Amino acid sequence: MNGLEISPFIRDLPKVELHVHIEGTLTPALRWKLAHRNNIELPYKTYEDLLDSYKVTYNHRKEVNGDDGRPTFLEAFFAGCQVLITEDDFYELGMAYFERCAEMNVRYCEPFFDTQAHTERGISAITVMNGYYRAQQEGASKYGVKSNWIFCFLRDRPLQEGLDAYAAARPWARLADGTGKGLYHAVGLAANEFEKPPLLFEEGFKMAKRDGLHVTLHCDVDQKDAAAHVREAIFDVCNGEGTERIDHGLNVLDDPELIPALKERGIGLTLCPHAYHRRQATETLFSKIQKLIDEGVKLCINSDDPTYMHNVWIDGNMQKIYTYCGLGKADMVKLARNGVEMSWAGDDIKKELLLELDQVVVQ
Ligand SMILES: [Zn+2]
Repeated sequence: MNGLEISPFIRDLPKVELHVHIEGTLTPALRWKLAHRNNIELPYKTYEDLLDSYKVTYNHRKEVNGDDGRPTFLEAFFAGCQVLITEDDFYELGMAYFERCAEMNVRYCEPFFDTQAHTERGISAITVMNGYYRAQQEGASKYGVKSNWIFCFLRDRPLQEGLDAYAAARPWARLADGTGKGLYHAVGLAANEFEKPPLLFEEGFKMAKRDGLHVTLHCDVDQKDAAAHVREAIFDVCNGEGTERIDHGLNVLDDPELIPALKERGIGLTLCPHAYHRRQATETLFSKIQKLIDEGVKLCINSDDPTYMHNVWIDGNMQKIYTYCGLGKADMVKLARNGVEMSWAGDDIKKELLLELDQVVVQ
């Protein structure tokens, strides 16, 4: 189930990543370093104990499957966030991801971030965003990895708290009137989706739309009411205009009306195969993804939360599709092109990457 060896073809393919939660890239090494720098006590005596904790498969949901005593994925994820305190910590988190991007030939990305998980710990939103903003600038100049970020509402927190967080974060957005620092250019959703349908955050989406930002909707796989949530995302949010992208959304396969609607409205899916592979058998999962490809659904491949998902990054996720769907090189170039086309990068970035993808040898 875990990672495959990355082939040179996948390694060298120019990539964009549209579905990665920045805190889900916090490596054990950086977590250990920041815990010591900030005098945060970890529940692990040694670095090896910490490393061992990442080997657990956090693939259950207490609300859906019952409590088996292990932490859930989200509990592990938010436990990791505890070591992020200063602006430098957030900056280093961003830079570590960009360094990794450069190694994997990820040239452009749209990382998810939120401020609520940090302000509730007493960290100011300004500290969080100044750190990420510095990483955005230096990631581009030092590693050549360009990025536009996505502000997330935490869906298991009250709507008003999310709206307040958005208002505080607004000066860091790239606003339609040309103002704002330009850290982020879209809004989305993160955290626990259980009984939290997309429309609960409609007011937030409308605010973002008024500001000229994009909207993407996170729809977890096999969550309670998963297909109903996807339906809302396609037909109902943003005054019925629908979302521009869906993050995950594999449950479109459960309702025959959804795939035609996705295609008609030009909504793409940002899939993260390894995340689903933690819960689904190889043949079941990859035949579902193959079906989406065959049906002509636009999709691209991403990593989600690589450090909490067995250290399988975007290259490892692409390798899984390449191997288990039995795709050829030209098919993989097509998936990489989808990422570029589904992104909200500037035309110059898109053009450059598409040109480069045109030149990839697929024989
Ligand atoms: Zn996600």
